[in-house]
Amino acid sequence: MDLSLSEPCVDINLPETDLKEFASKAKDWNFLHGVIMKSKKDFSDDYVQIAPFLLLPSKYPKKEFNKAKLIQTSINALMHKVAHDYEFLQSTLKNTIEVDFFTSKLFDIYEKVHSEGFTQSISLGLLRADYMMHSTDGHKIKQVETNMISSSFAGLSVLITEYQRFALKELGHMEKIANIPNNNSAEGFAMGLVEAWKLYNKKESVIMIVVEDIVYNIYDQRVIEFCVRTLNPNIVVIRKTLKDLIETARIGPNKELLVNNMEVAVVYYRTAYQIEAYTSEKEWSVRLLIERSLSIKCPSIHYQLAGTKKVQQQLAVPGILEKFITDPKEVDEIRDVFMGIYSLDLNEQGDKATAMALKDPKKYVLKPQREGGGNNVYNEEIKLQLDGMKTSKERSAWILMERIFPPLQKNYLIKANEEVKIQNFISELGIYGVIMGDENQIFYNTEVGHILRTKPADADEGGIVSGAGALDNPYLV
Ligand code: ADP
Ligand code: MG
Ligand code: MG
Repeated sequence: MDLSLSEPCVDINLPETDLKEFASKAKDWNFLHGVIMKSKKDFSDDYVQIAPFLLLPSKYPKKEFNKAKLIQTSINALMHKVAHDYEFLQSTLKNTIEVDFFTSKLFDIYEKVHSEGFTQSISLGLLRADYMMHSTDGHKIKQVETNMISSSFAGLSVLITEYQRFALKELGHMEKIANIPNNNSAEGFAMGLVEAWKLYNKKESVIMIVVEDIVYNIYDQRVIEFCVRTLNPNIVVIRKTLKDLIETARIGPNKELLVNNMEVAVVYYRTAYQIEAYTSEKEWSVRLLIERSLSIKCPSIHYQLAGTKKVQQQLAVPGILEKFITDPKEVDEIRDVFMGIYSLDLNEQGDKATAMALKDPKKYVLKPQREGGGNNVYNEEIKLQLDGMKTSKERSAWILMERIFPPLQKNYLIKANEEVKIQNFISELGIYGVIMGDENQIFYNTEVGHILRTKPADADEGGIVSGAGALDNPYLV
């Protein structure tokens, strides 16, 4: 075990007043460069707050970082293939959709467009594959999940990379800057959107970002939006909520998606992954309308379903990866990052997994079919949740995952209205991938950058907008 991971990448050892001064400078750099989000106190256009970030980058083994980057194109392709396997999605999600309303609504839409025949055969994926290092397994990376919809922070991530390089320089460690890997996530995502727009091949068509009513993380989206405009100033980018679309979206004579009479080439969802986004049947209807249209969806409904936790669990069943990947070396590389992950269906296997979790809940995470953080169950609450559904079908809506225990590292968190102090943190690495293709082929498949999301060691979850998490970078060792 590499104990040096526990100490910060540079010994900043500053007296308290100097630390405060440095933290204040760091905050100003980040304000100046847009590492911000909307204020929760006042989310009008006039108020922003700093997005939480780590004063210093976190040490990370180069070997594990490179491994995560190297397998990204395989993960992209895997998700793409899974999304195009109707029988697999149907059989994997069968029990879950019987009891989980949200997944069943998504699946209904999928069934409809699948049986009608997809109007648009191409899907665009802007993915983020997430990993944590597992301390008891030589600090090897283990997959937390792969996000297929609304993968966040590809925009702000490039800014925090620049900030932490600035921090090392300011602290007199110019020579260490190269240990923070290059990051191109914002342009990478923007390129994906531009390539999809090009494939749609209509000069006047627009890219539409579908957003929540209140977008706390709007600047992360704006970085990508403005990057699209820089790459190609001819592409108009519009932003609409699902509510706006209930009023304005319609299908044109050639099945094109029309919004305020603009033809939408690409629909980029930064909402619609969470049940709260669909406050009535009208939002579900508009989602179906979009799915039925000629626009290229990021993600399409089948891409979104491929990203469910239930599918992740099924992919870990022996023999399943081989259905999608022919190269045994690639299969091994992907399987190597899997943790134990178990079905909780009402059968013998599900009973066995339930018993394991009841016996030692601290070793597991209980997950429903949700996205966006704050939905998982930990520790003693796992017992309560499982006791409540021991013999009920509801159990099929959940999966059980072995808990990853990442190494702790000392650092400083800078966050609005919080005092700066040294404390222990744990990190989750995200690798961004872009994929585009249809049932028969993949046209575009790249890895485009990274984010490290770091949270205090005692927090179960580290959402940056929602929870205790903060923006960070690996410092490769
Ligand atoms: P979501 O789609 O809501 O982000 P995740 O599976 O990523 O769901 O879980 C949310 C958070 O919970 C992760 O960012 C991580 O902090 C924590 N978490 C999830 N799975 C594990 C695990 N197996 N071990 C340790 N922590 C986990
Ligand atoms: Mg997720
Ligand atoms: Mg997650």
